[in-house]
Amino acid sequence: MKTPKRNRGNQEQWLVGTHAVHAGEEKAAAFGAVGTPIIQSSTFMFDDNKDLEAYLAGDTDRHLYTRWSNPTSEVAEAKLAALEGAEAALSFSSGMAAISSAILSHVKAGQRILALDSLYGGTYELLTVICPQFGVQVDWTPAAKTPEAVRNAPKETALIYLESPTNPNLRVVDIRATVAEARARNIPAFIDNTFATPILQKPLALGCDLVMHSATKYLAGHSDLVCGMVAGSRERIKRVYEYRKLFGGVLNAGSAALLVRGMKTLELRVHRQCANAMALAEFLSRHPKVEAVNYPGLPSDPYHRVAKSQMSAYTGMLAFTVKGGLAEARRVTDNLKLVLYAASLGGVESVASLPVRTSHLHYTKEDLATAGVSDGMIRISCGIEAGQDLIADLKQALQ
Ligand code: PLP
Repeated sequence: MKTPKRNRGNQEQWLVGTHAVHAGEEKAAAFGAVGTPIIQSSTFMFDDNKDLEAYLAGDTDRHLYTRWSNPTSEVAEAKLAALEGAEAALSFSSGMAAISSAILSHVKAGQRILALDSLYGGTYELLTVICPQFGVQVDWTPAAKTPEAVRNAPKETALIYLESPTNPNLRVVDIRATVAEARARNIPAFIDNTFATPILQKPLALGCDLVMHSATKYLAGHSDLVCGMVAGSRERIKRVYEYRKLFGGVLNAGSAALLVRGMKTLELRVHRQCANAMALAEFLSRHPKVEAVNYPGLPSDPYHRVAKSQMSAYTGMLAFTVKGGLAEARRVTDNLKLVLYAASLGGVESVASLPVRTSHLHYTKEDLATAGVSDGMIRISCGIEAGQDLIADLKQALQ
């Protein structure tokens, strides 16, 4: 059966929810299938040498080998490019594969990176352990001072690396102001947009050069696969592509299809998760056993103003610190009945974790203090359950 080629109208006018469902589907279209086909093939055949030469000359409808490109993965990539407003995007076997390929493709020995002093633990380890082994040193800046830090960065600085809001403490970087300084010095700025998703924040429109995702989280959204993505200009994506090709951190077609399925409902899920996070943050901020709540949606949060200026809502993630340190944080998380006690985030189910024991296990004590991550901090990833049930669970767990 031939693949129908219906005129879908002016796709540039589609809004975000429409892109999430329809963008990129033509990349793997076959047999008129409405569900995204899983092209489970390591290699692809050519009719003849002329056909192969067309591929080598850049015909993007053809493929050679799945470590180079795969039609199902390209559906996910075209969707993310549409959602982030990027020229191009790439998918990876994990968020760390995406982040390491993006960073290592843009620095070389003798250069420096200016990074946020509060990042996902894996990225922190990459920057503190791996990068110095390749002769790349890192300078650190607090989220509230990134523009000044960029202005005063050493002359060898070749990359600004940001995350906003940050994991797990929900700090927010003033992206516009930071990027303005980076542009003035001609230094590219990369940002991990995992917590915000392209539904809430569009870093490329704010001036960033490359956006990364642990697509394991909100983009896939169902806690059933590990994957990563990067989006940006065609030129930068080409640089990252060479590293993906040679490090080999590609996504397989089966996981790509799960990612695509997740992305189709991204907008719906994220809005519900944000509403749940806001309701929980308000509840926790009034609770006598809670010392502090980190949630940029609360007007009292120190990052509220800047978050409001660059995000359309405030993420489904929040953190709170209980009075009584680790012992009390253990007690509360042990008492949870509905909210699962697990690492990771961004799935349809609500999850609680203690960052000092999971995402930030490898931070030094001093760096945890700098990042404001304490033993008593509990991170919550709000799912899409009924908000009242989540509040009731936290209430009984705190009691
Ligand atoms: N970035 C952030 C903000 C994360 O939370 C994570 C994982 O928790 C990563 C990157 C790494 O992604 P992955 O676990 O998919 O490799």
